[in-house]
Amino acid sequence: MFPSRSTAWDDVKLWLPKHKCIICGVEVEFTQVGVHYQTTHPDYDQWGNHWKRLSWLLLMSDVALVVLDAFFIRSVIPYSQDIVLAYLLGSMLVIIFTLVSKQRAFREAWQKAHFQQFASRLTMLPDVI
Ligand SMILES: [Zn+2]
Repeated sequence: MFPSRSTAWDDVKLWLPKHKCIICGVEVEFTQVGVHYQTTHPDYDQWGNHWKRLSWLLLMSDVALVVLDAFFIRSVIPYSQDIVLAYLLGSMLVIIFTLVSKQRAFREAWQKAHFQQFASRLTMLPDVI
């Protein structure tokens, strides 16, 4: 038979940082993060893809507003930089707040579901005492 050989990729994997799952807390190899979320937390994965698309749209609108401000709005409205800056800050806060609050909601739902599974297993155990 063939002896198991460690490849250079195995050595590299040892040095790669592990990702701690945001939902269940399991440590996952850096290359398997996407697979973990797709298989273990498909709802979160779908929501994450939706959130990424919305965030990109918001960021694109930020860029468009900055460009529009630099070439047009600034000449019409004297203090438009303040409005643009407030919009940029507000959009960043919206992106971060929705991500953090939704991650917390998914984590709490996962913990609640798994605690109920754990509790139901405990009730199925025979009484020892
Ligand atoms: Zn997980």
